[in-house]
Amino acid sequence: MQIIIIILAYFGLTNWVQIRFLLGNFFKPKSKSREIDFSKMTDLVKQKIGLDVTIKELPEQNKMIGFMVTQRPFKPIMVFSQKMLSSFNIDELEWVVLHESAHYMKFHNYKLVASDIFCFLLAYSIIMIFNLPLLLALVVILIFSVIYVQIAKIFEYEADKFAIENVDNPEGVISGNIKMKNSKISKNIVFNKLLVIAVPADKRIQMAKEEIQKRTQSH
Ligand SMILES: [Zn+2]
Repeated sequence: MQIIIIILAYFGLTNWVQIRFLLGNFFKPKSKSREIDFSKMTDLVKQKIGLDVTIKELPEQNKMIGFMVTQRPFKPIMVFSQKMLSSFNIDELEWVVLHESAHYMKFHNYKLVASDIFCFLLAYSIIMIFNLPLLLALVVILIFSVIYVQIAKIFEYEADKFAIENVDNPEGVISGNIKMKNSKISKNIVFNKLLVIAVPADKRIQMAKEEIQKRTQSH
């Protein structure tokens, strides 16, 4: 019994965004993602980084979300919520498309799964070796899920760095993040730091400003 609670607690904490999303969609089965014509954007991405991406729209009207669905050897398919696609302009979209492309090119989905399982096995070994009671076991689980989220954030930084260096207009990163800040999943700073796998919007804005400065200096 204890092992089931431990597994649910750990993977619940490390994948709460996906679980919440899946559960949310489970209750509205009519919503299905549809492929939309973004040939201008996909052509640009192909020409820039040589990746032939497919963009799909999720019928999600409240949250600004996007993620890379596939990983090599499969073709790159990314999805974005309707809310994001309808409120972002072309420069802002280029940033998120390049961000998701970076996840694909750098094998982040594989690395995420491996890190997730590795952190769980470490936590589980500690629980077993010291034969910890459930309450202490859950503390260990919490600590290792926070460690996993920090590892996953490294991949987010990598993806944002790649996207910001490659966008036509880094101003789009700034305006896009201002829009995202206003529709955030959580406003709790401690919670965001510990358990949300994303680069904070203010940090991305700062990275974009540095990129703009870099470009004006080199011209
Ligand atoms: Zn990402």
